[in-house]
Amino acid sequence: MPTGTDQPSSFFLLAPITAVRSVGTRSAARLAKLGIRVVRHLLWHIPSRYEDYSAVVPISEITPGEKQSIQGEVVAIATRFIWPRRMSVTTATVRDDSGAVRATWFNRPYLSDMLTEGTRVSLAGKAVLDKRGLYLSNPSYERTNGTVADMGAEQLCHTGRLVPVYPETEGVTSKFLRYLIQPLLERLEGIPDPLPAAMRREYGLPELSTALQTVHYPAAIADVDAAKARLAFDDILLLQLKALSERRLLNLRRAPTLTLDVAYMKKAVAVLPFTLTHDQRVAAFEILKDMERAFPMNRLLEGDVGSGKTAVALLAAFHVAHAGRQTALLAPTEVLAQQHAATLAPMAKATGIRYALMTGSGTWADGKSVPRARLLRAIANKEIPIVIGTHAILEDRVTMPALALVVVDEQHRFGIAQRAALVQPGRHASATVPHLLSMTATPIPRTLALTVFGDLDISIIREKPAGRLPIVTKVMGTRQRKDTEAFIREHIREGRQAFVICPRIEVPPTDEKDAPAGKPLRQKKLQPLWAEVKAVEEEHRRLSQEVFPDLRVVMLHGRMPARQKERVMREFKQGWHDILVSTSVIEVGVDIPNATVMVIEGADRFGLAQLHQFRGRIGRGSDQSYCFLAASDDSMAKRRLETLVKTDDGFALAEADLKFRGPGEFFGVRQSGMSDIAMTALADPELVKKARLAARTIMKVDPTLKKHPLLRELVDQFGRLVHSE
Ligand code: ADP
Ligand code: MG
Repeated sequence: MPTGTDQPSSFFLLAPITAVRSVGTRSAARLAKLGIRVVRHLLWHIPSRYEDYSAVVPISEITPGEKQSIQGEVVAIATRFIWPRRMSVTTATVRDDSGAVRATWFNRPYLSDMLTEGTRVSLAGKAVLDKRGLYLSNPSYERTNGTVADMGAEQLCHTGRLVPVYPETEGVTSKFLRYLIQPLLERLEGIPDPLPAAMRREYGLPELSTALQTVHYPAAIADVDAAKARLAFDDILLLQLKALSERRLLNLRRAPTLTLDVAYMKKAVAVLPFTLTHDQRVAAFEILKDMERAFPMNRLLEGDVGSGKTAVALLAAFHVAHAGRQTALLAPTEVLAQQHAATLAPMAKATGIRYALMTGSGTWADGKSVPRARLLRAIANKEIPIVIGTHAILEDRVTMPALALVVVDEQHRFGIAQRAALVQPGRHASATVPHLLSMTATPIPRTLALTVFGDLDISIIREKPAGRLPIVTKVMGTRQRKDTEAFIREHIREGRQAFVICPRIEVPPTDEKDAPAGKPLRQKKLQPLWAEVKAVEEEHRRLSQEVFPDLRVVMLHGRMPARQKERVMREFKQGWHDILVSTSVIEVGVDIPNATVMVIEGADRFGLAQLHQFRGRIGRGSDQSYCFLAASDDSMAKRRLETLVKTDDGFALAEADLKFRGPGEFFGVRQSGMSDIAMTALADPELVKKARLAARTIMKVDPTLKKHPLLRELVDQFGRLVHSE
């Protein structure tokens, strides 16, 4: 628990949840399933909707079928047990000055003891008419001390006003959450606001305490948006401040300065087996320019699958080698590392530049297998300037004393710690920090990337290499299935290969062992699921035994050992199998020009950008490729998928996803530590722009946040508060 602060109110926000009245260890464990571990989490647990019980009427004026609240005194109450059906019915009569009404509850026998005769109550719900007249069926209830006119509606919690309905989990009902949250709201008065008043005025944002009050108990629904915007603004601002602070620290570090040698680069480009596209040229130039500076590059290279990012990275590596320095290129899988080495081989031969390949299954120098120890020595002696590899190059024994550039391919596949390990100075006995180039095939809208990944520089390759045929995409209903199967068979007969991608299945965790206490729910969803594995196994069985018994069908899923996955990928690449059935998590970067057909099952469960990314695995060669999107026969789903038929622009599709599905679709966003409310707000470019501008304004006058102690405290805690560590 980070506490060390003399601010009493922020201390209160950071107090563990057990400090709240009526929260014991058992409730704490349940609340943790909702990501609620400190008081702040509870106050920032945002209602998913509101129940409108704000119409408080005299009992005589109750309208059947409408949501209303009444207040009065219990004049009779009794519980009847209906043994054969194992249930109970509690019936009360409540009276006010205007009349009386019945209320009934099922299976709440304790109410007889709680709402005894003479108790003043507030009830809310819908009134129903039966042959004995009007009654309230299972109304929300709470005890009141006097008449509501005496006490004022603010003190009500479950009735008589707009009442929050929260995301719930087993053992944590909205009623319980309201019971915990409402008293806390009263303590917010005078809580210091981290946003300076001038800034609140400038951006038209309510005060923090007001925003929290309103978001839980709004006076009117129309007030909720402004309150949410304020809370989202804070999160985006903090993320920005954190990113800017990190960037500032990075800019203060020293990196190797590599002077751009244009003549040499021209020669290196000439060695490539193709002409660079304009976008590749620009990206390479931006990278080389960055490396001329004395502080570390932090650049993200974004480009669709197949846009040719590797060539750009390799050119940068050649330049580094020419300057007498070393490059480490990290790939997420062995197959990809081998693919990069194979691309590099002819170029290395033509230029005489040496390279190494290190994976879990072996070590090679210039394409020839060499003993590990000897290779490590050669790298440590700076004899080999380019080292390509998997996680194997993260091992401590690998030292690259002249390391100047680290390239991370498919960067989202690596943890932050792994990326950090590579760029750590010290580790390679050098005083400088290497330049960092991350590559990704996930097209992330620019503002989103800047917000989530921090203040990095971005190069984008939009253009495809010349001569690629656009992939023919078709949305397929259940009736076209037979035709598609015939089509696949025909193509395989011609010697082609096909991918079948199984749908994403998300099963929310239901019990303790599924969701370890302390881990927020949404992290859990990213894990490979048995349901998905089962779907792959079932589809593999169906295709190999029923549909294509004569063809070679193989499968791949996240629960297979890494070694076996590598083998399947390699064999498929070498043409040993006709059809590869897999989950959605399989490698994006593998180049298999002979695979020209893809079927995506349950396509309506994926975002458009992700479907586009899957599709990018075909269409790598010069032959026409085909992608079939199998969807349910629901016309809405089909219409959304039709967008893919019409456009081939990954960024346009990503923007569409951001608009329609929110930012949760994008890699990294979920892990960034943003609250759900901020995640939703990320789709609002105006708010993001404001928060980014605010962060810049603050950092310009106060780069270390000395004058904004509350903000600094929050920035320091940002990651810690949101992640479970
Ligand atoms: P990705 O961006 O997905 O990593 P790759 O770098 O693997 O893409 O490139 C995909 C394929 O395109 C490779 O076979 C590569 O040789 C080829 N390629 C890259 N750039 C060009 C280009 N400018 N012209 C033609 N082919 C290219
Ligand atoms: Mg790639």
